[in-house]
Amino acid sequence: MQNSREQLLNVSQKLSLTGLNRGTSGNASVRVSNAAGQDGFLITPSGMTTDKMTPTDMVWMDFTGNATGPREPSSEWRFHLDILKSRPEVNVVIHTHSMFATTLSTFRLDMPAFHYMIALAGGDSIRCAPYALFGSQQLSDNALIALQDRKACLLANHGMIAVGETLEKALNITQEVETLCEQYLRALQVGVPYILSEQEMQDVHEKFKGYGAWAKQAVKLKY
Ligand code: 13P
Ligand code: ZN
Repeated sequence: MQNSREQLLNVSQKLSLTGLNRGTSGNASVRVSNAAGQDGFLITPSGMTTDKMTPTDMVWMDFTGNATGPREPSSEWRFHLDILKSRPEVNVVIHTHSMFATTLSTFRLDMPAFHYMIALAGGDSIRCAPYALFGSQQLSDNALIALQDRKACLLANHGMIAVGETLEKALNITQEVETLCEQYLRALQVGVPYILSEQEMQDVHEKFKGYGAWAKQAVKLKY
């Protein structure tokens, strides 16, 4: 079994291998206590490509912003810290400059319910946080508001953030949001897509409550 450092590295490498992040763009964090049992999180180092990262490069931070490790924490440690601190149900934060989310973010618009899968992010839209300088407290403040009752948001002229209970779930949201952004951008090239009504989205939220439940159960194969 992999430890948290290895798991965080593994997810960061998956983000690169699937093209969701390129070069040193993007970062990720996972909630984990240190050896002394102090609350905090591991975050990817700043300015490194994932092929050069090793498990020991992951930086541990506490919730006052003190970093421990041989590397500098990601320049976006503020929003990772603020999200993990204020959202106890969130254990993982992923940030990407993926192609379609980033392209859409330059329009500074919330993504409406043009597709029912928008519900996966927790609401009837995926908000776009107002622009602020990368790594700034202002960007973190803006992101936190855009993420209210949501598992994902866009960052204007920058990219996206996705959060989850586990690394697998956060990665899944990241991939789904990127897909939605691609679909929305393609739809906009043709015209103005139909936006699902409040009632239609309410039905989706209801149906999602039981969705995939069977997949979580151990299945007994008959042959
Ligand atoms: P870091 O390399 O410092 O994580 O920065 C990448 C990034 O995406 C900044 O917004
Ligand atoms: Zn970024």
